[in-house]
Amino acid sequence: MELSNPALLKSGSLVNGEWLTNDHQFVVENPANGNIVASINEVSHEQVESGIEGASQALAHWQSLNVDERSAILMKWHRLILAAQNDLALIMVAEQGKPMTEAMGEVVYGAKYIQWYAEEARRINGDLMPVNQSGKRGLVLRRPVGVVSAITPWNFPSAMILRKASAALAAGCSFIVKPSELTPLSALALAQLSLDAGIPAGVFNVVVGTNAQAIGELLTTHPAIAKFSFTGSTPVGKKLLQQCASTVKKTSMELGGNAPYIAFEDCDLDVAIKGAMGSKFRNSGQTCVCANRLFVHRSIYSEFVSRLEKKVTELRVGDGHQAEVNIGPLIEQKAIDKVTELVDQAVGLGAKVICGGKQIDGPGNFYQPTIITGVTPDMDIFKTEIFGPVASIIPFDSEDEVIRLANQTEYGLCSYAFTEDMRRVWRLSEKLQFGMVGINEGVLSNPAAPFGGVKESGMGREGGRWGIDDYLETRYVCIGDV
Ligand code: ADP
Repeated sequence: MELSNPALLKSGSLVNGEWLTNDHQFVVENPANGNIVASINEVSHEQVESGIEGASQALAHWQSLNVDERSAILMKWHRLILAAQNDLALIMVAEQGKPMTEAMGEVVYGAKYIQWYAEEARRINGDLMPVNQSGKRGLVLRRPVGVVSAITPWNFPSAMILRKASAALAAGCSFIVKPSELTPLSALALAQLSLDAGIPAGVFNVVVGTNAQAIGELLTTHPAIAKFSFTGSTPVGKKLLQQCASTVKKTSMELGGNAPYIAFEDCDLDVAIKGAMGSKFRNSGQTCVCANRLFVHRSIYSEFVSRLEKKVTELRVGDGHQAEVNIGPLIEQKAIDKVTELVDQAVGLGAKVICGGKQIDGPGNFYQPTIITGVTPDMDIFKTEIFGPVASIIPFDSEDEVIRLANQTEYGLCSYAFTEDMRRVWRLSEKLQFGMVGINEGVLSNPAAPFGGVKESGMGREGGRWGIDDYLETRYVCIGDV
């Protein structure tokens, strides 16, 4: 890989400001061609423990800095990440596969959280309140929770780390993250830039290894850790949540989704199609907020399907490094197998393939951008997060019916609706049981907004003033004898 700063390509964990090595290594593969991108040192149990202890020792100094000092260091990290945008995107495309334009966008998106929280650090205000006893005064402080551990997925190898770390560090916490073993290089590059920015040793640690279960156990049970933050699948999240119970850790869980997308009869079809393309096919459909079930009013159904088909057949599939490509590979063959099974089962039960519907032959994990119609609630594709470039379309007749169908899932992360009726917008905003509702918009997330889900999609919020609360505890101080 030709980087303008080759020092960003690392081969082992960063713990207490030191780059670690190990006799055991694992390889990172490029999902677009199966080539080996890098060989990485596995982190050992002892090294993770030492990272947690170091993060604990680093707290005192980090918290002793005043808010201007902490904010200035974070802003330097932000600037360095933006300056390295191209290198970071090249690394991301090589290990994750997404198109270069999306990778460039993710780097900026993640960096913006650092800027936002570097500013928000100035507004961690407390409260004073009158108490109902003479001679006493009450105040409330908001204090950093302490050491934060995190586990992040491969679909946004940079932004999922920065969304958590920026809020944690701004709050005065130290941080230790295990990125996905499929995409460790982006995380390690961010770690190098954290050192360059002057983030003190032990405040930002990255541990990389393939033994997710063992590392995860340490990060969810070690008594020095106060809080655990996870982004990943619901089954793994549930298990980690249970592990956190043993030491009563504060937790944030960004888990799976099964987003409904609803195009009403009164929608602006151009806006609706743009929203469907953005929310469904970004990152080849591998995001937890991807539209998973596209409900389209029966009166516009055939026009919607033919317009969507035109757009989908224009998509260029290939290696994300190529300029014209806008759909990359899926992360691994396992992901293709899952998509194949969901599509084949739906077709077996009566769904119809409008375009695509197959794995693409040759090297790399490519699946054709696909539309299937006639999907019904009894099919697995209706109930399961697809995580692939498959738009599954369901007709509906009335608002009440579609709200009921949309809510017919144990997930509650994101939902989308397209309509020009403002009264309907208000009803949908209240009745859709999801943490986020996009109205005439397919891409919602930004640093000022609270990202997160309800039901089995998780708890806690990332972004905005709500996001920093996850890294603060509320402390009541009572002063007597006044
Ligand atoms: P995805 O479907 O996005 O791969 P996962 O939940 O499998 O979601 O993975 C998200 C993150 O969780 C990755 O960093 C992965 O290594 C980690 N992980 C997976 N299984 C476990 C586990 N049993 N314990 C701890 N971490 C895990």
